Amino acid sequence: MTARLIDGKAVAASVRAEVAARVAGLGFRPGLVVVLVGDDPASAVYVRSKDRAAEVAGLAVRTLRLPAATTERALLAEIAHLNADPAVDGILVQLPLPGTIRTDAVLDAIDPARDVDGFHPVNVGLLAAGRPALVPCTPSGVMRLLAAADISPRGRRAVVLGRSGIVGRPMAALLLAADATVTIAHSRTHDLAAECRRAEILVAAVGRPELVRAGWVAPGATVIDVGINRLPDGRLVGDVAFAECAAVAGAITPVPGGVGPMTIACLLENTVTAALRRRGVAP
Ligand code: NAP
Repeated sequence: MTARLIDGKAVAASVRAEVAARVAGLGFRPGLVVVLVGDDPASAVYVRSKDRAAEVAGLAVRTLRLPAATTERALLAEIAHLNADPAVDGILVQLPLPGTIRTDAVLDAIDPARDVDGFHPVNVGLLAAGRPALVPCTPSGVMRLLAAADISPRGRRAVVLGRSGIVGRPMAALLLAADATVTIAHSRTHDLAAECRRAEILVAAVGRPELVRAGWVAPGATVIDVGINRLPDGRLVGDVAFAECAAVAGAITPVPGGVGPMTIACLLENTVTAALRRRGVAP
């Protein structure tokens, strides 16, 4: 391997420690509510990790567990209740929701000032307008990783593989805001390999195990792997064929231990930001 390894666990630990130190100095505990509908085992694991991390950082966190049979109407009523609770600074609805509930209707119902996932159209719009307020945690974590590795996007050609509202689109907006020249590639892109080879910074967020091969990576490029894919044999791999790409790239994130830990760290940060903004003490 020739690429420098970008250690997400270490960077996330330092962001979490920063958040804990800020919270300790606030004189109040920012409140976070995680809403979990149903019993999807992967979601339950994510929610437990968020809960633990928030607790350690000193936030007042609680998980609102609702049965899989919860109706959209009942969930919207719960969200209205949380929106009106002065002790709640951040609301996160764990996705995916059961198929009977419209995800957009639920995300649209969260108070934008408490939308710590940054998925509400108001926050999406502010980010697109270059006026970021609460920014989605995973792309925000990628920007933190780049900064920690001293890799500036300014003036660089960045390619984002994937255009989801959760990762690809906000990722592209953040890279653009950081003065990169940004291309978004997706399933209809004609020659993905050629597009990716042009990247000085390549962010893969497609959910396709090891799609990105060594021949897609320009020598010396920075490769950020957002993908989390469980193979039939139980192994966890990213969207990048790590070993072969690490032989070509200049810097690379592993899976696990790269972007994953950053998502929760940035969620904690967003909760503190939301709490301070709601009290008028942060821009
Ligand atoms: P998603 O909503 O399924 O979006 C995937 C995107 O990739 C879509 O834009 C799709 O294109 C594109 N795509 C799919 N197959 C492709 C292919 N063969 N070639 C080119 N483009 C392709 O997924 P997501 O929510 O963005 O998540 C992406 C990955 O990141 C997943 O592995 C997920 O588990 C992981 N993830 C990790 C974290 C973390 O904390 N580290 C957080 C969120 C997600 P179209 O739009 O054309 O369909």
